[in-house]
Amino acid sequence: MDFTIPEELVALRASFAAFLDREVRPLEETVAPSIHAGTFDDAVRAAAATVKRRACEEGFYAAHLPESVGGSGLSTLGMALLVEDAAASGLRLATYAVAPPNPEGPSPLLLDLPEHLWDTYLVPLVKGEQTMCFALTEPEAGSDAQAIKTRATRDGDDWVITGRKHYITNADRADFAVVFAVTDPEKRAAGGITAFVVPRSQWTPGKRQLTIGDSHPSELILEDARVPGDHVVGEVGLGFFAAMRFLNAGRAYIGAQCLGLAEWCLSSAVEHAKARTAFGKPLGKFQGVSFKLAESKAEIEAMRWLTYHLAWAVDAGQEPMLDASIVKYYDTERAYAVADRCLQVFGGMGLLKEGPIEHVLRHLRILRVVEGASEVQLLVISKTMGL
Ligand SMILES: Cc1cc2nc3c(=O)[nH]c(=O)nc-3n(C[C@H](O)[C@H](O)[C@H](O)COP(=O)(O)OP(=O)(O)OC[C@H]3O[C@@H](n4cnc5c(N)ncnc54)[C@H](O)[C@@H]3O)c2cc1C
Repeated sequence: MDFTIPEELVALRASFAAFLDREVRPLEETVAPSIHAGTFDDAVRAAAATVKRRACEEGFYAAHLPESVGGSGLSTLGMALLVEDAAASGLRLATYAVAPPNPEGPSPLLLDLPEHLWDTYLVPLVKGEQTMCFALTEPEAGSDAQAIKTRATRDGDDWVITGRKHYITNADRADFAVVFAVTDPEKRAAGGITAFVVPRSQWTPGKRQLTIGDSHPSELILEDARVPGDHVVGEVGLGFFAAMRFLNAGRAYIGAQCLGLAEWCLSSAVEHAKARTAFGKPLGKFQGVSFKLAESKAEIEAMRWLTYHLAWAVDAGQEPMLDASIVKYYDTERAYAVADRCLQVFGGMGLLKEGPIEHVLRHLRILRVVEGASEVQLLVISKTMGL
């Protein structure tokens, strides 16, 4: 076994760190008050758009996509390291410098579209000119996704889709959606659910659903939405299989984001524990504080190697479903625990919007539920043990 990060990835990380310092940090300082106030006003949006544009120009944003569609063919491990470093920088705008794990960016899932549609749908995402959304969840089908009711039927050369999605990130802004619909009610997950690309003109965004996080999903309503027959991702009936092909890498990116956020929380809390005194000595000299931080360090190292191993397994051409579920479960749960402990070390400042941890805790709380809640991962893990 060789646990060394390849030299070219070490160099890539260094140039990404320089990019964050040069391009993102100064912008972040100008919009920090609006970010802390949670207003995400025009100035923050403009700064985020600038970060994304510059990251596209420098080749970081969608580096994990193949060169044939404008990416760099970067490995899963390489992209996971960039996602980790963006999160560990503590810069809120850094999240716009890399596409994953955000569902609005280019998903490799779209490589399963017919090639003549890549220029229309995939390339503008890779260039950062458009955004998408991923529309699977419905009011009566969340964890049990195969219970979706949205229905697609053939009408001549077209598909006609009717249904109601909810909790869809970016449904109110996306240029197009990947929509999952039932094409064969008898088969459902076993060959009866299809993924379609649906242009923005064909759906209505419903109610915006305000969450504890900084991004708020919306309903997505399809009433006789019409798409051409070739707007199918992968094969008709095999929508879940198409999504599964890229699920493992997606879990590596979520894990990497959790890892980076936990690193940011810990480094901030360690500094604070050294600088802040109480009862005549630095906080970090009290075992009640230092043990919390030591426990966090141990968990972060476990997260790191689980995540890197998953990325390595994907790059090695394996189909590490079990490892992916373990990473989704362990990293989201442990990163949340680390953030919570570190917040405690900050005392009152930990609860302030302008403090380093409050927004991280809220974001990590969401990650324990979305894209397969922790219990669903435990279900997958249990099944591998014959339970
Ligand atoms: C901020 C946000 C953004 C989102 N973005 C998107 C998006 O872009 N696209 C999209 O399609 N969806 C999105 N979702 C939906 C998200 O993926 C679902 O909320 C998630 O899958 C859980 O589904 P549910 O909310 O219906 O909960 P339910 O499925 O009702 O589950 C409720 C609870 O029961 C538990 N549970 C369910 N089944 C079992 C079981 N068999 N054993 C033990 N426990 C179980 C769950 O783990 C959970 O804790 C988003 C949600 C949020 C909140």
